[in-house]
Amino acid sequence: MSSTLCENAIAVGRAVQEDRLWSNLMEMAKIGARDDGGVNRQALSLEDREARALLISWARERGYAVAVDPAANLFIRRGGDGDPVLIGSHMDSQPAGGRFDGIYGVLAAFETLVAMDDANISTQRPVELVAWTNEEGGRFAAGCTGSISWAGVKSLDSFLDVVGADGVTMRDALEETIDATPDIDRRTLGGAAHAYVEPHIEQGPVLEARGLQIAAVTSIQGLRWYRVEVTGEAGHAGTSPMEGRKDAIQGALRAIVALNELMLDPTDTVRFTVGRMEIEPNSPNTIPSKVSFTIDFRHPDEAVLEERAGQIAKIVAAATTPCSATVTQTSASKPGVFPEHLVGLIEGAAQGLDLGVMRLPSGAFHDALFVSQACPSGMIFIPCVKGISHHPSEYSSPEDCAAGARVLAACAAQLALEG
Ligand SMILES: [Zn+2]
Repeated sequence: MSSTLCENAIAVGRAVQEDRLWSNLMEMAKIGARDDGGVNRQALSLEDREARALLISWARERGYAVAVDPAANLFIRRGGDGDPVLIGSHMDSQPAGGRFDGIYGVLAAFETLVAMDDANISTQRPVELVAWTNEEGGRFAAGCTGSISWAGVKSLDSFLDVVGADGVTMRDALEETIDATPDIDRRTLGGAAHAYVEPHIEQGPVLEARGLQIAAVTSIQGLRWYRVEVTGEAGHAGTSPMEGRKDAIQGALRAIVALNELMLDPTDTVRFTVGRMEIEPNSPNTIPSKVSFTIDFRHPDEAVLEERAGQIAKIVAAATTPCSATVTQTSASKPGVFPEHLVGLIEGAAQGLDLGVMRLPSGAFHDALFVSQACPSGMIFIPCVKGISHHPSEYSSPEDCAAGARVLAACAAQLALEG
């Protein structure tokens, strides 16, 4: 059920200025700008440092307190006492990324702080912008290292020896980035928060198709990744009789067809992808002796993930006979379900601001999935054109960017005012 927000919270939402937010977004997009209109601002790179410096300079002009933790998560705090209301997202991009993924949430959070100044609101709790480090994982594989270590899901130490695509360790890149801002406060990793709200572009086509500006995100789906290896027997394509062949690619194809049947879902909620396949010896006139392929299986309900994933090995074994097969799980994460009081708050804020809103699960990972293990968390989605993301042509209109920032500002105010 959606909640009704107080007048002051709605007033903060209305104080968001579309032009100011847009000009900050476009200013930030110059850092790491690509010729094709996208940005390349990878985690802990020179461009990331430049973007941080710009944001810090804006925060200084406004008199906000700025701090960094050992994971290089950046915090910008406005007023209040006690556990903060955290708002934000990430500043890093994919190597051929767009101008909105991540940075939109950080700048919508900055606009929220400024809108609170403009609306002359002092809140009981602090409202704190957070920019999480290395969400994308493009430079340092396995993303979300900032939010994961802040929430205590895994230790920061477990990431320090990761070597980036350019040969630099995460340990060195973190040190360089933190040292680049010697004049801001240092704080320890973690800490309590009253709530976390993350605005983000949808990275999918639903809002645009429905003509709505806001989604109150209900959950982030969980996933299971597998590597399947099918072993057959090589042979001459011309001389080996069809009968008695152990053709690994035919076995793999039968397995994929059978898995498609397992993953059938009339509600179109299951996501099942075979994205990579390797064939040995990969020769046009040799029967393949070995085929490996990946499975990416996602769903918002852990019970469904468990139940269907539990059948994969048996189905693969039956379908690949007379070849042999192994199925190895390579990654697993549980779905994150956002608490109703925050989903309802986001929905209520949109309604209070006369913005079209729907509830929607998130298909992609976000920092909020991990932060939600440490404090109540929620997400706001805005439309992006054709659902395109992780691509230079990624685009959200100034109006939609402002709509999401208004909802964020109203929610943050409501959470920080109520103490
Ligand atoms: Zn993102």
